[in-house]
Amino acid sequence: MFRPTVAHIDLAAVRHNFRLAQQCAPGCKVVAVIKANGYGHGAVPLAQTLATEADAFAVACLEEAIELRMADIRNPIVLLEGFFSAAELPAIAHYQLTPVIHNAQQLAQLQTGAIQSPLTVWLKMDSGMHRLGFPPADYAAAYSTLSRCNAVQHIVLMSHFACADELDNPFTTQQLATFTAHCRGLSGAISLANSAAILAWPATHGQWIRPGLMLYGSSPLDRVTANSQALQAVMQLQAQVISIREVAPGEGIGYGGRYRCPRLTRVGVVSIGYADGYPRHAPDGTPVVVKGQRTQLIGRVSMDMITIDLTHLPQVVLGDTVELWGKQLNINEVAAACGTLSYELLTRLNQRVPLQYESC
Ligand SMILES: *Cc1c(COP(=O)(O)O)cnc(C)c1O
Repeated sequence: MFRPTVAHIDLAAVRHNFRLAQQCAPGCKVVAVIKANGYGHGAVPLAQTLATEADAFAVACLEEAIELRMADIRNPIVLLEGFFSAAELPAIAHYQLTPVIHNAQQLAQLQTGAIQSPLTVWLKMDSGMHRLGFPPADYAAAYSTLSRCNAVQHIVLMSHFACADELDNPFTTQQLATFTAHCRGLSGAISLANSAAILAWPATHGQWIRPGLMLYGSSPLDRVTANSQALQAVMQLQAQVISIREVAPGEGIGYGGRYRCPRLTRVGVVSIGYADGYPRHAPDGTPVVVKGQRTQLIGRVSMDMITIDLTHLPQVVLGDTVELWGKQLNINEVAAACGTLSYELLTRLNQRVPLQYESC
């Protein structure tokens, strides 16, 4: 590896965050959500790190589950979108995966599919998010069909929250009430809580919690809480200062000359760009950290480089490390500056940025 652009992954921090999720919901089982390559952190190393502690893992699709099975991960694996066609059923049975059943077509396919050893399935209700799940009024009927299905051994009752990150929004309580009302009389463990609900809505915890983002040390909540503050950043995204120059007042920097230097400006060029997944729409002022000091992006993000202001940092020299987000710079701050979420920043990084694992 020659290019000095790398994402350091602190596996001890993952373990810390996992245990924090457990402490937030004492007695609950935990499905560690590692879809989308573990939110960009590498699904297999994460699964290996948590294999002895996680009651299950969750991924988005069969391909992601098979990757884990191929790496010898034996924990139950929940497929959060179930299956997209009946052609997946033999593999789901073979790898003993746990599909979410969220529509009538899946239900019918499960009934007719030849599955030798029965599966645990998660039955999803649409309690108000209106994305996946059975309408509340149809839920008990779907449950009853499933419970008579030969392919099914065990049913977990689930739903998903639309607004749990908004601490003043009553919609989470409303969704919980809808779910509870339409589960009356159905037996089975309950799973509702994503990271936001784990951190902030204890009434929703049920028997299985589903932490995703919080495992990676970023809080989804719209304000800081004691729990969210205890999270540890897992990824440190680093690049290097590869050029330094002084630019005269009035001159523009980078494509389109978007940033005009208001005074004599010391400009650092840094080895990361939008082809790595750093957001091209990052505006002037997006924070970065160099040698422990905060500074900011000036000028448009290029394919392979960005430019930052070093005017007030004369001690910075060629070859110094720049942190784009991580332990010194909360990714949520970068996301806010870019008008997006840490979820997107983490998952849009690509293979051009090598992942380097530390302290397992
Ligand atoms: C992704 C996902 C989660 C995890 O959500 P976070 O906000 O990352 O904690 C939980 N449940 C379902 C159904 C999901 O799709």
